[in-house]
Amino acid sequence: MKIFNPADGSLIRELAEDDAQAVAAKYARARAAQPDWAAVALGDRLDAVRKFKDVTEKRKAQLARTLTQETGKPIVQSRNELNALAGRIDFFLGKAQAALAPETVLADPQMHERITHEPLGVVANISAWNYPYFVGSNVFVPALLAGNAVLYKPSELAPLTGLAIGEMLHAAGVPADVFSVLIGSGPTGAALVDQPVDGVFFTGSYATGARIAAACAPRMLKLQLELGGKDPIYVCEDADVKTAAESLADGAMYNAGQSCCSVERIYVHERSYESFVETFTAIVKGYKRGDPMDETTYLGPLARAPQLAVLERQVADAAAKGAKLLVGGKRVAQQGNWFEATVLSGVDHSMELMREESFGPLIGIQKVAGDAEAVRLMNDTVYGLTAGIYTPDEARARRVLAQIRSGSVYWNCCDRVSPRLPWSGVGHSGVGVTLSTYGIQAFTRPKAWHLRSL
Ligand code: NDP
Repeated sequence: MKIFNPADGSLIRELAEDDAQAVAAKYARARAAQPDWAAVALGDRLDAVRKFKDVTEKRKAQLARTLTQETGKPIVQSRNELNALAGRIDFFLGKAQAALAPETVLADPQMHERITHEPLGVVANISAWNYPYFVGSNVFVPALLAGNAVLYKPSELAPLTGLAIGEMLHAAGVPADVFSVLIGSGPTGAALVDQPVDGVFFTGSYATGARIAAACAPRMLKLQLELGGKDPIYVCEDADVKTAAESLADGAMYNAGQSCCSVERIYVHERSYESFVETFTAIVKGYKRGDPMDETTYLGPLARAPQLAVLERQVADAAAKGAKLLVGGKRVAQQGNWFEATVLSGVDHSMELMREESFGPLIGIQKVAGDAEAVRLMNDTVYGLTAGIYTPDEARARRVLAQIRSGSVYWNCCDRVSPRLPWSGVGHSGVGVTLSTYGIQAFTRPKAWHLRSL
């Protein structure tokens, strides 16, 4: 498998792929190794994860460079991801003991009822490239802490990061067969899903998630899918325009818009609409695009070349239906996967741009008459990952957000993930939960003990 740098198209490295036979062999070794790992004291498993965290902190500069090289993420943003990784791991380290502890729910003299949290067994973790440390660790850290063996397939666009994660976990004391990295693209992922694993944890697009769900359906295994979003934000007439525009431009364009919770649609109250559009566009025009290794770069290339055509199609469709192009709108004529930061106003829901995930530096702004229309439009989607509102009025925010069908809601913030809160989606945004204590117990099955002393 050839790994290319999306910033200039140059070849970074070639890696041997795991074919179906290699995947089956890794599965068999993981299956054999898992019971011993589950028998390791939780304190020792916690130690291993703590050491892994320490190594990621020591090697941060080098790991950030690798991530930037293979995905095109600006170097500052790669370091941000690694900085925040430590906080996520700390959350799991702090909560695992309590989340995994057996619970006594009845203690009568004759009858004891208990719940234990058993590991699932061997789990497949098929991950995305956009935040490989985040979306990977949301799965493999709690899975390992709970006593599972993990078969980890990084995206073909971030395999060097995947291999580095494997090396660091092994150096930290996780046995090689308890955490295996599988290198390859779609067919390797499909071969992994074909193994008799006990759980499949997938992060990626709805289309691939739906294929995986179909493949898993008859097998009654634990399946979690963290998929895409078309995340809407409503800016009320009482919101401070500059503050909202700065926050939302970053929410839409950070990591070139390639976040599952990127702001993908903006609705602005008609009374602030003109000034918001003007302020927002000026901010986006000020973003510096360039070499992702440069410390001052904000916008890098897209990781995936095929996404360029998706963005072009959405811009052309919106323009043909009457949207106004305010900045950007096309590929940048240079080697690599470059697209201009693009803002369109005067959009509506007849346009693909407001219905299909863009997953790029592209955003549409639509005028609304008030809260009722905003709620209707925000809910007019097959997705339901995040949604938010900007207003100083907390009661109004709570009223609006209560009516929104999505896994997470934001008041005066956006594009935010907290390890303390559950991360989940509605509809095509997926099923299951990561993060929070729910996201630790997700890697276990509750076993019910009915214990009568005679
Ligand atoms: P894809 O669905 O293309 O790929 C995701 C993973 O699945 C990759 O590792 C991919 O391998 C693998 N894969 C591809 N085909 C198959 C198959 N048939 N069987 C098993 N595995 C397969 O998504 P992207 O990588 O492009 O990620 C972007 C998407 O992920 C967006 O929709 C985004 O919103 C979503 N996402 C959601 C998050 C959330 O928390 N909800 C977080 C981050 C991203 P390969 O890449 O090697 O082809």
